[in-house]
Amino acid sequence: MSKIKILPEILSNKIAAGEVVERPASVVKELVENSLDANSTRIIIEVEKGGRSLIRISDNGIGMSHDDALLAIERYATSKIYTDSDLFSINTLGFRGEALPSIASVSCFVIETNDGNDEAGTRIDIKGGIIKKVSEIGAPRGTLIIVQHLFFNTPVRRKFLKTINTEMGHIADTVANIALGWPDVRFSLLHNGKKVKDWVAASDPGDRVADVLGKDIRNNLHRIVPHRTGGVSLSGWVASPQVTRSTSRGIYICVNGRCVRDRTVQHALFEGFAGRLMKGQFPMAVLFINVPADEVDVNVHPRKNEIRFLEGNKIHGVVAEAVSGALNLADRPVSPCFQEQDSEQHTAGKQDQEPGQPCVSESAPHFSASGKGHALPSEKESSQSVKNGIFQENRPSPAEQTTLWKKKQFGDLRVIGQFSGTYILCESEKELVLIDQHAAHERILFEQLKNRGSKGTSQRLLIPETIDVSYSEANLLEKLIPHFQETGLEIEPFGGNTFVVKSVPAILGHREIRPLIIEIAEKMAETGFNSGLEDAMDACLSLMACHGAIRANQQLSDEQIKQLLNQLEECENPFHCPHGRPLQIRWSLQSLEKSFKRIV
Ligand code: ADP
Ligand code: MG
Repeated sequence: MSKIKILPEILSNKIAAGEVVERPASVVKELVENSLDANSTRIIIEVEKGGRSLIRISDNGIGMSHDDALLAIERYATSKIYTDSDLFSINTLGFRGEALPSIASVSCFVIETNDGNDEAGTRIDIKGGIIKKVSEIGAPRGTLIIVQHLFFNTPVRRKFLKTINTEMGHIADTVANIALGWPDVRFSLLHNGKKVKDWVAASDPGDRVADVLGKDIRNNLHRIVPHRTGGVSLSGWVASPQVTRSTSRGIYICVNGRCVRDRTVQHALFEGFAGRLMKGQFPMAVLFINVPADEVDVNVHPRKNEIRFLEGNKIHGVVAEAVSGALNLADRPVSPCFQEQDSEQHTAGKQDQEPGQPCVSESAPHFSASGKGHALPSEKESSQSVKNGIFQENRPSPAEQTTLWKKKQFGDLRVIGQFSGTYILCESEKELVLIDQHAAHERILFEQLKNRGSKGTSQRLLIPETIDVSYSEANLLEKLIPHFQETGLEIEPFGGNTFVVKSVPAILGHREIRPLIIEIAEKMAETGFNSGLEDAMDACLSLMACHGAIRANQQLSDEQIKQLLNQLEECENPFHCPHGRPLQIRWSLQSLEKSFKRIV
């Protein structure tokens, strides 16, 4: 007897579900895509408990006849492709014919649909892939799909689900992503009966972009002049290089209406921004790319969020050129802005006002890897040494630290001046000392915040500032609110994903607060509380310190430098910025003399 057997259909559907349905957000993605393929203009997504207990999606699309509804839940049943060649010119979001049977195999599933031709609509009840009931119902034209108790029969997959808020965050991001590419469709998202977000139909795609990216950056968006080259067309928006993110979350790539991740396009975007971003920063952009259907392979990934371009180089060139063109145009004194090409809302060249300077200047002194030329000696008494151009820490033992401390490392330094507006040059009796002013001030502010030094020194904003973040960011931010309070940052939920900042720590009184809150929210979304609340708060404090600190290229008076050195002296760790990078370099007289070959 043969050992090999064809799997029963229910089992093969469950296996397919493993690929297609990773989490509740994947169900939402597949069902919303189906609604869009059915020409819907109104899609309502209702979710309970982050999609664990209920996902209910209704649309006003073309619906299905009784027979089609029964076919739709069969594996490999699709109305979107019929022949081999169709697979290579796909104009719809779906085509694999897998989603409905996969989802139905791992949930309690109901489909209600009416194509407007029959008098009655059709309802099919399925549990774990088994049809329980087929009935006639009265229903308007369109389709309603209800998915309950997702993964009830795949307990391991259910265990992998994250918290309700995390799953809901993924759902909200998914809908926002899709909504970007379909501005004329109205999407409503509800969670546990409450409205999360209503993306109203927009006649100008720019309105939808502003709606998804947040109203805050509206005036910092530059429209890409639509490009059309060899069948490829590109349009979209890029944000000013001053408005950046610390992750790629602000990059949206829509290819033929499908939101995808794509390395080629992302690389080209960075190339378009070349020379305008600091290391580690990500631009914000929304790119709509249309290519002939036979020049893109969408059948690369079961969840259909990756694609392959037939001519990647061509796309790369178009994107890079269009992005740099939009930014160059924006650099002109009267720059094109979000709504009107010739509006004056955006003024270029206010870079020095913006936060996001690197926490430690990149322009560290040059060290030759070979130890020759300008190489600095690695002296034992130094707290740093340099090997292959990389700082090595010679951490003193705790006993030594006490001795060092008593020696007065900073308070007694004599200030020589500032180098390049960025480094403080000082001397002690036997050392030349270079201090990174931004990193040093960051350290001081970080410790002050950490020791609640600014408690009571918060500054009330004359006009409270409202700030929008994404759904998942909002949840994390909310958890931190009581802890922010202790630092002097008074921030409150303001409904939906909006927060209102009422007071800021005094050290931030002279800075814009919005970019800091957005960076904190992003940082939290990126790292979460994986390594505990204290680490998460430390990350927030170090961002606050970074935003509040004096910048590179900022002239300081001798008095200000002296004050900085005295404050550094008070620090628990006066040698590193909060990110762990060195904030000072010391050369002993002896080592300098050796370098100048005065002694051997
Ligand atoms: P695919 O989208 O890849 O074709 P699905 O399993 O997602 O596969 O859907 C199967 C078929 O069911 C679709 O091809 C379509 O004909 C029909 N269908 C699914 N959802 C809807 C909907 N909301 N409105 C109308 N038809 C739908
Ligand atoms: Mg589908």
